[in-house]
Amino acid sequence: MLFGWPVWSSLSPAMHEAGFRALGLPWRYVPFDVPPGGLAAGFELLRAGCAVGANVTIPHKEDAASMVDELTPRARAAGAVNTIAKRDGVLVGDNTDGYGLIASLARAGASPGGRKAVVFGAGGAARGCCAALVNAGVSELIVMNRTLERAEALITAVLRACGRQTEASTLKARSSLKARALEWSLERPDYDRLSQAMDGAGIVVNTTPITRQPGASPIPDEAVESGRLRPDPACVFCDLVYRPEWTRFLKQARVLGLAAATGLDVLLHQGVPAFEAWTGRKAPVDVMEEALRAAAQAGGPGPAHLRRRLP
Ligand code: NAP
Repeated sequence: MLFGWPVWSSLSPAMHEAGFRALGLPWRYVPFDVPPGGLAAGFELLRAGCAVGANVTIPHKEDAASMVDELTPRARAAGAVNTIAKRDGVLVGDNTDGYGLIASLARAGASPGGRKAVVFGAGGAARGCCAALVNAGVSELIVMNRTLERAEALITAVLRACGRQTEASTLKARSSLKARALEWSLERPDYDRLSQAMDGAGIVVNTTPITRQPGASPIPDEAVESGRLRPDPACVFCDLVYRPEWTRFLKQARVLGLAAATGLDVLLHQGVPAFEAWTGRKAPVDVMEEALRAAAQAGGPGPAHLRRRLP
């Protein structure tokens, strides 16, 4: 099951059902449109044994974290749940978004250890990604967000959850990790701030929905074209947005001569631990990827008649 609002555009049913078929499991993955505040009805279905588990997406990830019986350490660190699996009647909440990011970066040739990471956005997806980047050993983390307080709160929460003490006044971890929150607004762009943040970056991640708009990016083209951005030559850009797959942000990576990982990569890899938690079997990743790419290329989700409204 998938709980979200709206879920009409989700590519997850195609990916997971192809995996189920490959393993000979007569299972379905059914998306449910669950309006904000309505997640309790989805949990009733899970507790009644209607499914082995579920995915949870916008806007329910934080609510789900307070409704499951147990949290995995990475879900606790993220403060959000995107995967629920039932274990002996207990609903366990996990957050696999960060795993999806790290696996996608690895595929693009980047390992976060010792690198400087810049993350645009400070919402639910950014929390999972930042927790994963900290746990994977980045040396520096910069979170750039339109609302500075939200980026500061994210850093404090993630560092605390990852076992790093912070000095509240500076938001610097009392360890080798440097973490900073910066205000970044496309309406009032501070190009000096942007180029300082990007200087020597080894990983740059977009977690804002800005790139859903054709031609839009959290980084203005002007900054790219000016030659003032100097990330590490081995830097990898990753965009969590997957429609379009090759967002403006990822095209900017190409202009800068850098590698890129797409939101479809992240969607695939965040789905792998979820699939394995539900089935107890190794995920047929190649089959799932082929189905995901076919669904994306076909321009949409699985059949509309499979979508449901909760009673
Ligand atoms: P969210 O909790 O709503 O957070 C969105 C963030 O983007 C906030 O920090 C917000 O800033 C910022 N933002 C939104 N609109 C903006 C704008 N016009 N200009 C500047 N900043 C803006 O959303 P989320 O759950 O983090 O999800 C973010 C995106 O990631 C979505 O598009 C989602 O589909 C995608 N995602 C993809 C995957 C995958 O597997 N590929 C997984 C998870 C999420 P403020 O704090 O100032 O409001």
